[in-house]
Amino acid sequence: MINVTKTFLPTQDEYQAILKRAWDTNWMTNRGVLVQELEDTLKTYLGVSNLIAMTNGTLPLQIAIKALGLKGEIITTPFSYVATTSSIVWEGCTPVFVDIHPEYLTIDETKIETAITPNTSAILATHVFGNPCHVEAIEAIAKKHNLKVIYDAAHCFGVTYKGQSLFNYGDVSTCSFHATKLFHTGEGGALICKPEFERTMYLHHNFGHDGPDVFKGLGVNGKMSEPQAAMGLAVFPYMDLISEEREKVATVYNDAFEDEDLQLLKIRKHTSWNYCYYPVIFKTENQLLKVVKALNVKSIFPRRYFYPSLNTLDYVGDKVMPISEAISKRVLCLPLYVGLKKMDIKIIVDIIKSNI
Ligand SMILES: *Cc1c(COP(=O)(O)O)cnc(C)c1O
Repeated sequence: MINVTKTFLPTQDEYQAILKRAWDTNWMTNRGVLVQELEDTLKTYLGVSNLIAMTNGTLPLQIAIKALGLKGEIITTPFSYVATTSSIVWEGCTPVFVDIHPEYLTIDETKIETAITPNTSAILATHVFGNPCHVEAIEAIAKKHNLKVIYDAAHCFGVTYKGQSLFNYGDVSTCSFHATKLFHTGEGGALICKPEFERTMYLHHNFGHDGPDVFKGLGVNGKMSEPQAAMGLAVFPYMDLISEEREKVATVYNDAFEDEDLQLLKIRKHTSWNYCYYPVIFKTENQLLKVVKALNVKSIFPRRYFYPSLNTLDYVGDKVMPISEAISKRVLCLPLYVGLKKMDIKIIVDIIKSNI
């Protein structure tokens, strides 16, 4: 069976050797040595200064909204994973959708300003498939209207834009270390923020504990545990290999589809990308469904990331988002992982070519 991704696993020995340190200290969570080491490792590798490891990639979104004191309307993208929208609603705010750019697939920055009202408190946009939003334009709009900026950067591990980590843009960025993501801790994630917000974010992810008996504000439990951090530390040494292998697969796809009538992701200039997904956009949903059916017969299971368009969720007002809806219906992420065989890539490519 070939899925859209395959979790990269270190050897069990490597994992256990690291985990043993948690056993030795008899310490499973609450900022053990492994979580601290993982945070330090990631800060150095990514070139970010304020990073808090968390138990998944969704809580950092919720914590950011809560800790920044956001209220009312939050401008967001309809083309993302459901967690982007659900976190806004979960925190009692109202998502206001702005349609996406048809090629970059990120929020269309030229349409943001008309969506701003006196109730708008922030912009929460996704760097879709690791492709940066127009961060400069968004920053200028936020400044002008006094809005906070949160980036759902779940896909952005290792991506740099204009020479620095994409996580360094915006007030807060969040990342996911879920097993299906580029770098993973099984379940896990991180919040990266400007220095002035780190203390508040930290308190919010640990029940508001400011020492054992003192509470500073409302908090929740977003802590990463030692077994999660151990997985991260065991996977981490492979990151260069993971990137190289994924680039090779993506290059095979690129070459195969070069002259085909198939829309590929346009990466924004000045970006060093991480090959986290390989989306293709068909002419029609029918084409996509035919391809999926033919692939499924061969036990190949691509995924419809992202479908449906989030403005059509039943718990949000369904304002029409023509571009996002049209693309959601036609986009498919192809299998992309370390160890995907040339032979299998060829099957995937041939099936797509014979159906478009
Ligand atoms: C995976 C993902 C999330 C959620 O991360 P979890 O670690 O699964 O909670 C949020 N946003 C986007 C865009 C994602 O792809």
